[in-house]
Amino acid sequence: MKQLKHAMKPLAGLVALGSLLALAACGEQQQQQAAAPAESEVEKETIVWKLAQTWGTGFPIFGDAVIKMADMVKAMSGGELEIRIDSSNKHKAAFGILDMVKAGQYEMGHSASYYWKGKDPSTMFFSTMPFGMIAPEQYAWFYYGGGMDLMKKVYDKQGVYSFPGGNTGNQMGGWFAKEINTLEDLNGLKMRIPGFAGEVLSKLGVVVTNIAPGELYTALERGTIDALEWVGPSLDLNMGFQKISQYYYTGWHEPATELQFMVNKEAFDSLPAHLQEILVTAMQYAAYDMYAHSYHESAVNWASIEEEYPDVKIRTFPPEIIAEMKRVNQELLAESAAADPMFKEILESQAAYMKMARKWTEISDYAYLKDNLE
Ligand code: CA
Repeated sequence: MKQLKHAMKPLAGLVALGSLLALAACGEQQQQQAAAPAESEVEKETIVWKLAQTWGTGFPIFGDAVIKMADMVKAMSGGELEIRIDSSNKHKAAFGILDMVKAGQYEMGHSASYYWKGKDPSTMFFSTMPFGMIAPEQYAWFYYGGGMDLMKKVYDKQGVYSFPGGNTGNQMGGWFAKEINTLEDLNGLKMRIPGFAGEVLSKLGVVVTNIAPGELYTALERGTIDALEWVGPSLDLNMGFQKISQYYYTGWHEPATELQFMVNKEAFDSLPAHLQEILVTAMQYAAYDMYAHSYHESAVNWASIEEEYPDVKIRTFPPEIIAEMKRVNQELLAESAAADPMFKEILESQAAYMKMARKWTEISDYAYLKDNLE
């Protein structure tokens, strides 16, 4: 009997038959009960992972997406995989996430791909690009237009797997102390704006700085900077910029900022297939969910800014400025593409996809919206 039980152990589907046999062998019933807890402990062994995020403790929307992903993984896996989250308050390395995940200090990370442009300029394409795709177009490119394959190619070089990690939607062009009417108004303007957009603006005479989020309010209030961009109403309201700045410009630089989940390769490959599937599903769900969450928070918060801060005025950069931004953007992209075949490949993939998808956007959402704004 003991031998039979042992032989049957791997056949999980025969549990019912095993119970019948156990019942039949009444003399052994007690022995089997005694052995049961040890076996179930082995089956339910929890894999505990650690995730490092760029964001601080309690950071809204971005941090919520990470918590949702981890909660889903735990629930869907019946507790087999547990992901514990460390915020930047703990690990003190907001911009060291990629290095820590690569080294295996953390199995996972949550950040934004364009933070790694210093390691590889091609990483920028997986966040957003000035004058690039809007979120629905970009998600279509990621999942059906070859984007995931290109991201894998780029991140294979970095030694981690990368996945979309939540979209902010179209970001606002920033808060400005003064109205921007001509190109001359940009000359010497001190602005906090990171990424490729910062490079574009610096070619137009803007003095570009990058200031830590916690110091932005004071910098703008004291006039250390004349302008800044952060995200949009979803996150700007809590920062309080509406109290000290009157001109809120529409966006051109981050039309669909996608955050990023990262997973250490060895850790991911060592997971059983069902946990890999659960993890990938939870990350994709959390990413889409964050897009909806961002949209909601932006709509609600903008309504509140409009009501409580009637002095805030929405502005769009004049056509001559937009045209110049586009020209410089193209010039910088061409320079990088000439120096880097991978950059060129992704640039061409995105440009071709956007050209096609934009035609559809034009006769669908755009056509509908331009006549139905009320
Ligand atoms: Ca931004």
